[in-house]
Amino acid sequence: MRSMDTGDDAIGTAAAAAYNYSGPVSDREGTRARVSPHMQAGLFSETKAQVMNILPEIVEAQQELQSMRRWMDAHPELGFQKKETGEFIAKTLAGWGIEVHRGLQSGFDLTNIDPSPNEIVGTEQRGPFLLICEHAGKAIPAFLSDLGIEHSEMERHIAYDIGAEAVARNLSGVLKAPLHIQRYSRLVIDCNRPFEAIDSIPEVSDGTTIPMNAGLSDFERRLRYEKIHEPYHLSIAAALDRLLDDNLRPILLAIHSFTPVLRHTGAQRKCELGLLFNRDDRFANTMFAEVRAKYPDIQVALNEPYTVDDLSDYAIPVHGEQRGLPHVLIEIRNDLISDEVGQSRWAEIIASTTQAAANRLCQGGSWSWPEPFHSI
Ligand SMILES: [Zn+2]
Repeated sequence: MRSMDTGDDAIGTAAAAAYNYSGPVSDREGTRARVSPHMQAGLFSETKAQVMNILPEIVEAQQELQSMRRWMDAHPELGFQKKETGEFIAKTLAGWGIEVHRGLQSGFDLTNIDPSPNEIVGTEQRGPFLLICEHAGKAIPAFLSDLGIEHSEMERHIAYDIGAEAVARNLSGVLKAPLHIQRYSRLVIDCNRPFEAIDSIPEVSDGTTIPMNAGLSDFERRLRYEKIHEPYHLSIAAALDRLLDDNLRPILLAIHSFTPVLRHTGAQRKCELGLLFNRDDRFANTMFAEVRAKYPDIQVALNEPYTVDDLSDYAIPVHGEQRGLPHVLIEIRNDLISDEVGQSRWAEIIASTTQAAANRLCQGGSWSWPEPFHSI
C-alpha cells in the first residue's frame, strides 16, 4: 500500500512538472527568431518542414487547416453519414474557388462483408417452375448502417416479406424448381419496383420514416439500383434464357407475403391467399379454381390485396409478361406462415395447386401461349 502511494506521488509530481514546463525563456525566444512568422503558431518547426519537404503553401495554410480539423473534431458524425461534414468541406472548397459537385457525398457500394443480392437455390433443378422471392431478405449494406431506424422496424413487414423465404425454400424442394432469393431489405431498394417508381426507395413505409432514404439524389438512387436490383434481375433473366435455350418454358412463380393489419390505417385483411396478375390471367385463374376445389376453407382471391402493374411491380411485367411466360404472383397472409408448421403447410398448398394448374394448362402437350407482352 505504501509503495503504491509513493508511486502515485511520483507520477503526480512528474505530470505536474511536465504540464507546467515551459522551458528557459531565452531558448524559446531564440527559436522564434529562427522561424518564419507563419511557423510561429506551432505546427511545423523549420527542421520538420525541411525534413518532410512540406510545400510552402501547406505551411502557409497551417492555421486554416488546424481550424478545419478543430471544427470536425467538434462535429463528429458516423461513417458514411457525414452530411454536415460534407457540407462544411464543400463550402470551404468553394471559398477557395474550387468547383464543387454536390449530391455525390453519400456514396454507396457493397463491401466484402455484405451478402450477394442474389442467392440461388437448386440451380441444377429443371422442373417446369422457376421461383423468385424479391422481398425475402432484410439485409442492409454496411454503407447504410441501420438506415436511421430502430432495429425493431426491421422485423416488421415493411422491411421484408415475413415467412415468404421459408415457404419458397420448401416449394423449391417439393417442386424441384430453382429459386432466386433476394437478400436485401426492400427499405434499401424494392426489387419489385422499376427504378422510376418513387417508392422503390421509400422515404416512409406504413407510417415509419426512413431517414437514410430522405432526399436522395438521382445519382444515389442509381447506385443502389445498380448494386442490388440489377444483379438480382440479371441473374433471373440469365436463368430464364438458359431454360428457353433448352426449349423449356418455365412457369414463373413470385412468392410474397402481406401483413394482416396495416399499422397506419388499421385496415385488416381477411384474404389468406391472393393470386395476382395484370395482362395475362390464365395461370392465376386456373390456380384459383384448383385452390377452390382442393381447399374450400381457404379465403382465396384474385388480385388481392394488391394488383400487378408496370409501376408497382417489376418481376411479373419484365420476366413473365414480356417473355410470354405463364406466371402468377402469390401473396400469402404472413400470420399464417410465421412458423415452420405454417410454412410447410402453405408450401404444400401452393405446390399441389400450382402443379395441378400446370397439368391442366399443359393438356395439349405444350403451352399455347400468345406472343410475348411488352410493357407500355
Ligand atoms: Zn412482397
